[in-house]
Amino acid sequence: MSETNCLFCRITAGEIPAVCVYEDESCIAFRDINPQAPTHVLVIPRKHIASIKDMSTEDENTLGHLLYICGEIARRENIADSGFRTVFNTGTGAGQTVFHIHAHIIGGRTLSWPPG
Ligand code: AMP
Ligand code: ZN
Repeated sequence: MSETNCLFCRITAGEIPAVCVYEDESCIAFRDINPQAPTHVLVIPRKHIASIKDMSTEDENTLGHLLYICGEIARRENIADSGFRTVFNTGTGAGQTVFHIHAHIIGGRTLSWPPG
């Protein structure tokens, strides 16, 4: 399922280029175009789901797998042991700008808490 106006659906379809670091049958991961840390990767399901609040129960396995892949990418990027953050922004008030669910994987530097 893809939406023609969705940036991340278009990346999934190969219509917009991205630096892909991982892909399988249900998700893909690519480098953020505006990285906030030495490692900043976005992991998305191939299926268009706008945000966490738009998930249905049939999406549970897909998003569970996506979280597993976040850990796998962190290992490949050598940030698993030093620490990394996995972020899902939900809604404009939380900073979501692309309404296709995505996990940010951010690491490679010390991260402060709480986030802004
Ligand atoms: P969010 O603000 O949580 O919705 O995150 C959207 C992210 O997508 C931001 O960190 C952007 O830098 C990133 N982004 C926007 N366009 C692209 C693109 N064409 N390729 C890779 N990352 C992008
Ligand atoms: Zn989409």
